[in-house]
Amino acid sequence: MRDLPVAPRLARDALRRRLAGFDFSRPRALETVVDEVADLLETGTLHPTHRRYFGLFNPGSSRAGVLGDGLAALYNPQVGAWWHSPAATEIEQLTLEHFRRRIGLESPEPAATFTTGGSEANLTAVLAALTRSFPRYGKEGLSACGWPAFYGSDQAHDSFVKIAHATGLGRRALHRVRSDDRQRLDVDALREEIRRDRREGRSPFLVIATVGTTATGAIDPLPELAVLCRDEGLWLHADAAWGGLAVLSGSLRRHVAGIELADSVTWDAHKTLPVPMGAGMFFCRWRRSLEETFSVHTGYVPEPEPGTSEAYQHSIQWSRRFIGLKVFLTMAELGEAGVEALIDHQAAMGRLLRQSLTACGWRVTNDSPLPLVCFTRDGLSPDAIGAIARAVATEGIAWISELRLPSGERWLRACITHHLTTAEDVQMLVDAVRRAFQVCCQAERGVLLSGTASRGL
Ligand SMILES: *Cc1c(COP(=O)(O)O)cnc(C)c1O
Repeated sequence: MRDLPVAPRLARDALRRRLAGFDFSRPRALETVVDEVADLLETGTLHPTHRRYFGLFNPGSSRAGVLGDGLAALYNPQVGAWWHSPAATEIEQLTLEHFRRRIGLESPEPAATFTTGGSEANLTAVLAALTRSFPRYGKEGLSACGWPAFYGSDQAHDSFVKIAHATGLGRRALHRVRSDDRQRLDVDALREEIRRDRREGRSPFLVIATVGTTATGAIDPLPELAVLCRDEGLWLHADAAWGGLAVLSGSLRRHVAGIELADSVTWDAHKTLPVPMGAGMFFCRWRRSLEETFSVHTGYVPEPEPGTSEAYQHSIQWSRRFIGLKVFLTMAELGEAGVEALIDHQAAMGRLLRQSLTACGWRVTNDSPLPLVCFTRDGLSPDAIGAIARAVATEGIAWISELRLPSGERWLRACITHHLTTAEDVQMLVDAVRRAFQVCCQAERGVLLSGTASRGL
């Protein structure tokens, strides 16, 4: 993987031509098809398992992660019900219980499930919050709930837009509160907005604290939000899809202090540990609200054993893949200390990247303690930022993304998501960015020169 270009090099037409050679009316030996598909995947993928993929919260996969996914497929336990897969269910519960304790989410009746990802976990939070906040929601629906509103910063994840749409709350029910100059939710603005909305007849029920925003890794002020939600009687959901990794590190933990006060937490193992997608996690203080949201009575499913938990009664999924095994194997192999060392290493690589970029004239524009670095250079046009990101990708040695801000400004964005990224890889990225910058400068000068030249003619 280290020697492959990070970005896909198979053009769309070539890809489609090769796929056109497959014909389902003519069966073929699996071995030959697998070889061809592996080659297609190698040349037609942006590789998150490359250690110089500095991208969007998609880590590389370790052996434990891949084996866990393979074993899950091989035995294919139906983890929806305890009696159907006692071993798998208990392995998942043990794993979730470990992470719940690391978060510090204590409650007399906590609950946790693995999810397909952060989006499902966030949906679960909204449904449970609706169920708890509006006693008539479950039976009569939103029309019996007045005019519900929920809140997140302008940096909160856009999965909540889809969730607002899908639940019937409507996209306008998601109120975007402005963030400060460090991209963190402005708590005073939120308090004011909630008061105004109540005066206008709306029914606020939920606040989303983003713990590690996707764009810049900002962490909303959790303790202040917890106080506000307690005073206002609102459900606090911590969307820590990526930022959850901080609770695994003694040195990063303080940056997410207050996460343990949330009513529910989203945390993606597939963004923070070297495991394949999808492995989301949802933690909740109120088990009964989850049960109320998802419990059903069917004639064809055997009765549950006393003292066991049925995942299909706590989540939207019915048939359920053994998501948790790859996470369990990773924790079992590395141990708590091994995982902490891995997270701390990534944080150190983030700091090194900041320093190296600053040392060669770039301006770092975010101040997250997590290994996500946004940067630009004074005098660079927004188009040039996009051109630099594309030039880095085309060269193939590394991959970074660009960030388009509501102001029209653009930044470059590099996130350390691979557990094996080294100082040498960081240096190779910085060199690649420098080369891309030089190419763009020459191109811009070229345009200017040819313009002048043509006028002269
Ligand atoms: C990625 C992300 C999500 C969505 O999670 P998926 O696993 O991609 O569904 C939600 N919230 C935040 C903050 C994220 O970064």
